[in-house]
Order: sequence, then C-alpha cells, then structure tokens
Amino acid sequence: MTELTQARTEERIREEAKKALASGEVRAVVGWCATRFDDRTRPFFAETAEECDLLVWNPYCINGTAKFALDDRYPDQKLALILRGCDSRAVNRMLRDKQLKRENLYLIGVVCDGKENPICEECQHKTPLVYDVLIGEPAKEQIYPERFRKIEEFEKLSPDERYAYWAAQYDKCIHCYACRNACPACNCIECYADQYRVGWQGKAADREQNQIYGLTRAFHVGDRCIECGECERVCPMHLPIMRQTRKMLKDINELFGSYEGGLSEEETPALGGFRLDDPDEFM
Ligand code: SF4
Ligand code: SF4
Repeated sequence: MTELTQARTEERIREEAKKALASGEVRAVVGWCATRFDDRTRPFFAETAEECDLLVWNPYCINGTAKFALDDRYPDQKLALILRGCDSRAVNRMLRDKQLKRENLYLIGVVCDGKENPICEECQHKTPLVYDVLIGEPAKEQIYPERFRKIEEFEKLSPDERYAYWAAQYDKCIHCYACRNACPACNCIECYADQYRVGWQGKAADREQNQIYGLTRAFHVGDRCIECGECERVCPMHLPIMRQTRKMLKDINELFGSYEGGLSEEETPALGGFRLDDPDEFM
C-alpha cells in the first residue's frame, strides 16, 4: 500500500466518520474543520453525515482532539476521535488515569505526516498507538536524538541563573490556566488550582503565585507528560513550559531507564508505582 495523499486521507477520514455515525453507536466525530483563515483549522464535532464532509486533513490540523472526550465522562453513546500519534498517547494517558473508558470511544487513527507545529519535528510516533481503524500505512517509529538537548544546555546554568530565568518567565504569566486546560495529563475532575480552600492556591497573577502554580502543575504531570507540546502552544505569554516536564522526563530516563508517557493503556507512570520489596525505607 502506498502512502496516502492528503486529499485521499481526508476522503478516508470522512468515509470512516460517516460509517461510525451510521453504526448508531457513535454520537459525534471529533476532528478539524476549515476556518476563514487558510492557515488555520479548528476542532469540529461532526454529528451528521453532511457535517462529516466538513472534516479536513491538512498541515494545520494542530489542536489535540483527545481531551474533548473528558467533556462527558459518562456518555450514553461513544465519541469518535480522529487521532494522530500524539492524540493516541493522550488517549492512553487518560485511560491509564481512569478518566475515560475505552468502550466509550471509537478511535479513527490516521498516520500523521507532521503538521505546521514545531513540536512535530520531535515526534517519535507518527502512527497512532491505539485505534479501532487506521487510515494510512503504519510509519516506522523514529528516534529524536535531540530530545533532551535543550535541557542539557539549561543544566549548565548555575542555580541562580536558572532561578532568574524562571522568575522572568513567571513574571510574564497571566495565570490564565490555558496550559492546564489543553494538557491531556491535567485531567483531574476538579483541579486543585480551582479550589477556594484557604491556603491551597492564590489566584493572583504575580511571581509568587504564578511560580507555585507552575511548579505544582509541572510536578503533577511530570512523569505522565506525553510530550505533545500543547501547553506551550496555547500559552499566550509564550512560556517554555514543556521544558519543566522534559527535565523531569530526562531525570526519569537517567534514573529508571528509557521512558515515554502514554505508550500504552497499561503503562504505570514512572513515579506512580511501587514495589513491596523496595529496599528504600519509605516502604
Ligand atoms: S507536553 Fe504539556 S500539554 Fe502535553 S502532556 Fe506534557 S505537560 Fe501536558
Ligand atoms: S498558559 Fe501561560 S500564561 Fe497561562 S497560566 Fe499557563 S504559563 Fe501562565
């Protein structure tokens, strides 16, 4: 089978979306549709065969589709997702975190050719890792040798220089929570940052509160991050937030061996498991 053209892939997506809706088991198909800008698409819920013809596949299909499944955690019918490799890792993340049930999803996987998104240059999984139907010929997995290069550079700075760097970054943060809202690993039903209990988390957009928020979020998602880059992509103030989780992933790789998040529904996050015979005292 030869590589599918963009037009043929789009046609196949529409066919599979229509088939899914016609089965009667699926209430909507989440993919992308065109906008008035040639270089932008937006997430789109197709609920009828006619709407399926509005689904598109082009270099600007950038938004993640998986997190929309969290909008209804107890659905009467399945939700179908058009998913690329990164979206499939996001699905695995949420299945493993027990936030979604596999039987509530119908997954239309598409082998991805990379999008107009800098993170795609670093992608190691262009073929979805979980799907019900796959469009395209499975692509060979690639190793991205530069995965931790920026972190290694950053580690050469002194602690004071690193503090100054992040202080300047968090001075820019407007505490909008866009990073959390887009992140598939940020999937708690109620985020600690939204709780009004005294002492949990201030809401002010100042350095101290922004840093507490950023640091807490980084630790919360660090070993579960799937490296999709959505947090950075949506940040209106352009904070290099993914650098924090990449640093944690680098340390995890060095301490525990090769690790990537979201590769399967069964995988235990590196910091989420324990062994009863662990020699450390905390057991
Ligand atoms: S890259 Fe950012 S948005 Fe994606 S899983 Fe990691 S922390 Fe979340
Ligand atoms: S998206 Fe950017 S500005 Fe908004 S809370 Fe996150 S780091 Fe701050």
